[in-house]
Amino acid sequence: MATEVDTEITHLKNQLAQRHLKLTRQREIVLDAFLKNDHITAEALYQQIAKTNAHLGLATIYRTLNLLCELGIGQERHFGDNKTTFDNVLHKKHHDHLICYKCGKIVEFECSEIEKLQEEMADKHGFILQNHKLELYGYCKDIENCEKSITTPTPAVGVPTS
Ligand SMILES: [Zn+2]
Ligand SMILES: [Zn+2]
Repeated sequence: MATEVDTEITHLKNQLAQRHLKLTRQREIVLDAFLKNDHITAEALYQQIAKTNAHLGLATIYRTLNLLCELGIGQERHFGDNKTTFDNVLHKKHHDHLICYKCGKIVEFECSEIEKLQEEMADKHGFILQNHKLELYGYCKDIENCEKSITTPTPAVGVPTS
């Protein structure tokens, strides 16, 4: 039986073929690792991949991630810091995010009421809404889990200094 990743790889192969590009082994490794994550930076993905494929450079991973974005498999996000996070959107519809300042945890949500209010607000201001990004920043209520999941030496997102 074809696994989900097999299906994605076939899908990607077709898309690449349309652009006269090949699914190289390197691209396949990056895609494979990327699809195992929800939101990840290129650096973090590089570290994951390095465990099994040390020869893959960060530049290759960046290039492949950008390609995946062009193909609609990934979406670039900027969660409060200057790092680019890549959102694995292959199986996702539009969604918004909640982000923890402390551990960098990202929660996805979709709320039809908020979506509707945004439309209404745009309309009220004589605006035709095409797209939006809603990011809500704060802290995990579960302090214990939050502290346990701090993996990066610096906070994943910039805490306002006020
Ligand atoms: Zn997301
Ligand atoms: Zn947290």
